Amino acid sequence: PSIPNDLDAFWMPFTANRQFKKNPRMFVAAKDMHYTTSDGRQVLDGTAGLWCVNAGHCRPLITEAIQKQAAELDYAPAFQMGHPKAFELANRLADLAPEGLDHVLFTNSGSESVETALKVALAYHKVSGQGSRTRLIGRERGYHGVNFGGISVGGIVANRKMFGTLLTGVDHLPHTHLPGKNAFSRGEPQHGAELADELERIVALHDASTIAAVIVEPVAGSTGVLIPPPGYLKRLRDICDKHGILLIFDEVITGYGRLGTPFAADYFGVVPDMMITAKGLTNGVIPMGSVVVSSKIYDAFMTGPGHLIEFFHGYTYSGNPIASAAGLATLETYKQEGLLTRGAELGAYWEDALHSLRDAPHVIDIRNIGLVGAVELQPIAGEPTKRAFSAFVKAFEKGLLIRTTGDIIALSPPLIVEKGHIDQIVDTIRTVLGEVD
Ligand code: PMP
Repeated sequence: PSIPNDLDAFWMPFTANRQFKKNPRMFVAAKDMHYTTSDGRQVLDGTAGLWCVNAGHCRPLITEAIQKQAAELDYAPAFQMGHPKAFELANRLADLAPEGLDHVLFTNSGSESVETALKVALAYHKVSGQGSRTRLIGRERGYHGVNFGGISVGGIVANRKMFGTLLTGVDHLPHTHLPGKNAFSRGEPQHGAELADELERIVALHDASTIAAVIVEPVAGSTGVLIPPPGYLKRLRDICDKHGILLIFDEVITGYGRLGTPFAADYFGVVPDMMITAKGLTNGVIPMGSVVVSSKIYDAFMTGPGHLIEFFHGYTYSGNPIASAAGLATLETYKQEGLLTRGAELGAYWEDALHSLRDAPHVIDIRNIGLVGAVELQPIAGEPTKRAFSAFVKAFEKGLLIRTTGDIIALSPPLIVEKGHIDQIVDTIRTVLGEVD
């Protein structure tokens, strides 16, 4: 395909035409584990797009389902009407979700799912007759999308500092990333579980009956694959239960097999009250997200003392037929190919391969769980992100797509990855680290 000459119109702060106007990197095609660039090169996808293309690219079942649905029923209003595929997908998702999470709200992205879950959490306490609870608790270094609720509970100060007060009544738990103690741990790190007790400290600062929900990424993804120590999430669950606080897992990255189980809730054996998913729900192909809620929450909205209070929420495209068809075909592909447990089967190989980079130049930490990993680099003094970014550019030139966040290389290949691909990912990174300043 030809590349347009005038690239000025499309603006997003992070898109390539801002940084590389003269020589933008463009993908024009993709198949399975590889992208094709505009100059005809094959690039191994080490990041499943943006952690979303879990089944690999342009998979036939999904492509055909989208084409068929687009020709058959393109759109049906989600308000006061329905169509079968949204119901089918909701059923299928509820079956796949951990026991007890059995009703589904559809959205169009991770960010929208976060807003939806936060609104449900606040409304839940009212409809269930417990009065108004308005406080929310997130976590430092948590990422929950880019909308106002998400950046309020999100733990990245830089993302919210220019937007004023945002949601008020938000506290942040400390993260459990303790580089000095936990560096180079394999799988779950050993230290920091006691930090869950910080939740008790925050609860004690306020009246427990004012706190609606705690929202966490089970494994923080975008801020560099930060894995909780054993027992940490369980302890959060216990404290939430003790005080009637809802626990929300943002599984936008960890969902759909990324950890070698269908969801992180399965991996850690902790069931939240709400689970947010997106990305892998449709294999990244069509925008769609979901919030899967417990029967306790669903019942409160249906029959709780305050159930007649109107809860107005939903999007024009919620449960859109084409997205629903893509979701069904995606879940079917995961099932047929055993992809939701592939991270468990390949996990040891992945772990050993990644940790073989321990002695590579600049490496100060390596983290892994399921088929996700991070290689953290020593930042260049006074020039944060420069080293990792230069590794990104060099890797791309050598035919590997990685993602960097700060000075961390984050890796999350499609779950169809083979051992040979893993070797290529690790070998390329080793070479690149030998070349960067
Ligand atoms: N939550 C988490 C944990 C995410 O990783 C992301 C996206 N990286 C989001 C929410 C936001 O999703 P989206 O970009 O689809 O709005």
